[in-house]
Amino acid sequence: MALQKTIKRPIQCSGIGLHKGRKVRLVLRPAAEDTGLVFALHGQDGVRFFKPSPDAVVDTAMATTLGFGSRRLATVEHLLAAIRGLEIDNLHIEVDGDEVPIMDGSSGSFIFLLRAAGFRRQNKPRRMLTLKKPINFQQNGKWIKARPSDRLTVDYTINFDHPLVGTQRIFVDCSPENFTRQVAKARTFGFMREVEYLRRNGLALGGSLDNAVVMDEYGVINPEGLRFPDEFVRHKVLDFIGDLTVLGLPMTGDFEVHCSGHALNNAFVRYLMDNRETYLELDVSGSRLSPEEAFSPVFAPVPAWN
Ligand SMILES: [Zn+2]
Repeated sequence: MALQKTIKRPIQCSGIGLHKGRKVRLVLRPAAEDTGLVFALHGQDGVRFFKPSPDAVVDTAMATTLGFGSRRLATVEHLLAAIRGLEIDNLHIEVDGDEVPIMDGSSGSFIFLLRAAGFRRQNKPRRMLTLKKPINFQQNGKWIKARPSDRLTVDYTINFDHPLVGTQRIFVDCSPENFTRQVAKARTFGFMREVEYLRRNGLALGGSLDNAVVMDEYGVINPEGLRFPDEFVRHKVLDFIGDLTVLGLPMTGDFEVHCSGHALNNAFVRYLMDNRETYLELDVSGSRLSPEEAFSPVFAPVPAWN
């Protein structure tokens, strides 16, 4: 029986936010069994606590942004991917700004941080969201197909009209080892023409060659080059896993993804949540619970740390 997992001790880092370029502090703290993932966000009226959910996603333009009342938290996906990738069930995520620090544009720094904190097994069995039946979710020639499975696997294809990218495809069986080795270090990427446009519009102020792979018409501008020849599709797998994790519970399934992005990923998890009676059930060490039972902890009042 797989038991729930949290970290051993609080750990923190600082870095700049991608959009505003300001310094942000991130603190990760252990959380009790059945807490799930809880964001602790600072604001003028002190710290408040929120749980992720598909409905909390308020923007998917460049990154996945969560909104809770007047508070915003941008670029959550690389951190959530690291948490899901390492199979951490319970965690408090405290941020003193409105963006998760971008670090090097991958999940690598968060994996390093979480592993440095160490892991603690808890006493209750893991709760996994599983699919009841296959789903084929399509929009404008892009799709996410999924079949029930007790693992998380992602078969991802991208197709960019660029000499360095073109068509790339990868299959990842997302154990913590495989996630760490194959996916976690792949960086976000963009094109020079987009960077110029974003800068002119006061966006991506923290973006630089330190936290993104940037391409001109011919190749990569970054002097260090790529970390993997197919770093682009690997990063897309990373984003997909992070975007699934806004469900608030770890999900399993065999996923085939074609040219998706944050917007389609979010439309997909919203659709699953809206049709949870049809598609989802909760697996607790082999016994299946209904979606209402599954999500009751997610909808429960949010516990603060003490
Ligand atoms: Zn990303």
